[in-house]
Amino acid sequence: MYNHKMYEKGIKSSAIRELFEYGKLKKQELGEDKVFDFSIGNPNVKPPKCVNDSLIKLLENDEHIHEYTSAPGDLNVRISVAEYLNKMHQTTFSHNFIYMTTGAAAALTISFNALLNDSDEAIVFAPFFPEYKVFVESANGKLIVVNPNCKTFVPDYTDFENKITEKTKVVIINSPNNPTGVVYSEDDIKEIVRILTIKAKKYNHPIYIVTDEPYRELAYDDTVVPFIPNYYDNTIVCYSFSKSLSLPGERIGYIAIGPKASYAKEIFAAVCGAGRSLGYVCAPALFQKMVIDCLGQTSDINIYKKNRDLLYNALVEYGYEVVKPKGAFYMFVKALESDAQMFSDYAKKYQLLLVPSDSFGYNGYVRISYCVSTKQIVDSLPFFKKLIEDYKKRG
Ligand code: PLP
Repeated sequence: MYNHKMYEKGIKSSAIRELFEYGKLKKQELGEDKVFDFSIGNPNVKPPKCVNDSLIKLLENDEHIHEYTSAPGDLNVRISVAEYLNKMHQTTFSHNFIYMTTGAAAALTISFNALLNDSDEAIVFAPFFPEYKVFVESANGKLIVVNPNCKTFVPDYTDFENKITEKTKVVIINSPNNPTGVVYSEDDIKEIVRILTIKAKKYNHPIYIVTDEPYRELAYDDTVVPFIPNYYDNTIVCYSFSKSLSLPGERIGYIAIGPKASYAKEIFAAVCGAGRSLGYVCAPALFQKMVIDCLGQTSDINIYKKNRDLLYNALVEYGYEVVKPKGAFYMFVKALESDAQMFSDYAKKYQLLLVPSDSFGYNGYVRISYCVSTKQIVDSLPFFKKLIEDYKKRG
């Protein structure tokens, strides 16, 4: 009658989405400002001016704006993306290896389908964006989870080394990271590359890094986000404008295959094949063309930094254990009881919607998405204080 695997994925929405939907209902019942929804990464900051300017210009002047583009994307857009990357990172990307997508989700799904054969393994570093599991498994791959260093939340490199097998074809990196806000340093990237280079040689086949970069520009306090293709040739970049330009609902991003990647031509063909078989051809034309005018621009990320500082300083003062985020707009906070789901349920008493970390492949924490209004952060603080006081009373 129907596909049971897809049915299972459809009836269980993600923990993030579940809480987001709960928040919407609660807001209708109690009022918008009575619910502190920290569930989803929906940027509250407005897109930069270039977005509207470009869209208006295109709608008024481009007679062909609503037409199909080529399947991998409009040629001029792909050329602009390659030129931009090369200027920013002193690389040699070619538009021939750029594929425009409907956001990072499609970029990742296409890449996994293009790279993985049945039961190949894709390694991910915990804690991780939960949809990776769905994306990898729907490409018939197997997700292998590497533990983090529990203090710094960078990968445990010994565990990483041990988990690479002959079947490992992909390693997923997401820095700045969702859910921790951690940014991997140059030394971290070099260590990952060192291990991968040895293992790829041992198993005599390439192991590709798929770097998921929707938060590339969202880094604070002069934190540098190393550009992985400059450290490792076999890299596939999955980029999205959802967060940098505050356009998550418009669905625009791209895949960029490292210019020196092994089998780059064949991988690009497989990317086109995966895009075709998944129905992900021709990303939205209007937003593709807007990209040309907005490359390198971002929403005002100082607002996120302000939110981060307000929230981090207050939570630490109240006694919470918090991983200080250097990037993205998420904060990883230790739950006040061992079961993060129970803690998240209890926090609802104060209308604080915090995502339990279990679905990120790591227990005992909650994720706070602070891309909300600064007012929401300020108004929520007394409730975070009450929440920890309740737990202190409980002993
Ligand atoms: N990857 C990570 C780490 C994310 O946090 C998200 C969205 O929150 C995505 C991918 C999907 O992004 P997009 O909206 O571009 O599909």
